[in-house]
Amino acid sequence: MMTDWQQLESEYLLRTVSRVPVTLVKGEGARVWDDAGREYLDFVGGWAVNSLGHCHPAVVDAITEQSRTLIQTSNQFFTIPQVRLAQLLVWSSCFQRVFFCNSGTEANEAAIKLARKFGKVRLRGAFEVITAINSFHGRTLAMVAATGQEKYQRPYIPMPDGFVNVEYDDVAAIKKATTARTCAVMLEAVQGEGGVNIPQDNYLKEVRQWCDQKHILLILDEIQTGMGRMGSLFAYQQCEIEPDIMTLAKGLGSGVPIGAVLTKEEMSLFEPGDHGTTFGGNPLACAAGYATLKFMVDNRIPHQVSRVSKHLMDKLQGLQEKFPCVSDVRGRGLLAAIQFHEAIADDVLLRCLKKGLLINKVGPDILRLMPPLIVAESDVSQAVEILQEALMEVSKPKSL
Ligand code: PLP
Repeated sequence: MMTDWQQLESEYLLRTVSRVPVTLVKGEGARVWDDAGREYLDFVGGWAVNSLGHCHPAVVDAITEQSRTLIQTSNQFFTIPQVRLAQLLVWSSCFQRVFFCNSGTEANEAAIKLARKFGKVRLRGAFEVITAINSFHGRTLAMVAATGQEKYQRPYIPMPDGFVNVEYDDVAAIKKATTARTCAVMLEAVQGEGGVNIPQDNYLKEVRQWCDQKHILLILDEIQTGMGRMGSLFAYQQCEIEPDIMTLAKGLGSGVPIGAVLTKEEMSLFEPGDHGTTFGGNPLACAAGYATLKFMVDNRIPHQVSRVSKHLMDKLQGLQEKFPCVSDVRGRGLLAAIQFHEAIADDVLLRCLKKGLLINKVGPDILRLMPPLIVAESDVSQAVEILQEALMEVSKPKSL
């Protein structure tokens, strides 16, 4: 008899997540398999984590070799994979210094600490950070305060001090919220978890100008948009700006947990003891990060993302034209959303699951697609065909 892992999960784990009823046991490229041997096209990609797909040989080889050599020391010592990854990140970006941690939340925490130190040293104690409504910056208390979504804050009020949430894509709102207490603005280049919200072309440019004018920092949270997802290695490269600090995680390790803070030399104000981590920057995670980034750069993966993105967006627009229940499709690179007039996201998601496609719900009426960056155009066609079949079951197409 097959073990009922979902029943056991309900007995042993804290109830922090409503899981989709499938138990995944294996992955390869853009496909995964469940414990009954069923195959699925994976357009969730570990929540935009499996950048090179599941179990990419470059990553598997790197962590296999590293795990036989040295998995973890402490940051008391120098280790080679950490330096190699930091060097490659610096060579590939506009930044000069890197700090490694284990997750996106931790990267943002470190970025905020750095901004507060900047405020203390350079801005007479300014400590407040302006962030956007509908953003997502992580799950520690401070990052929940930074995240401008009431649903994540409500159970934990009072929130830590020092964050002001303003409308996204509204430079005037940032200007209005800026005071002598402000040390930084922290934004996503595209809001991912908030529903794939794409700002106007000039938004980040104007925010950059404002930050320069006020001598405050611009922190770009590229945890979801970075590492090729938008069709460039980092999203800021498409916005003609350079942030002062950028945070990465998700796609950086192609599935192996790793986070990073990248900063300009002028803002690298941490001194020994100011911040630290036990696991961050360990050789195993850094070997995965190095293999991922090297493969991406050598094989021009962001370029491939742009090409496949066009195919995905064309296909999704086709769905919108066909189904009146679809109110909007939007996306950049391989991060896309389908919005409905009604709260049918769960229904569509479960129908797709039955037909062999994994997708993600980010609101009762919004589905998000974020396949591995190596996904083929034929996989995209297949995924959209499944979506179409699911939509046919829940609503009528225009032509009928
Ligand atoms: N920032 C952004 C933009 C994210 O999308 C996420 C996760 O979804 C985070 C931060 C938090 O990252 P993690 O879950 O690795 O802590």
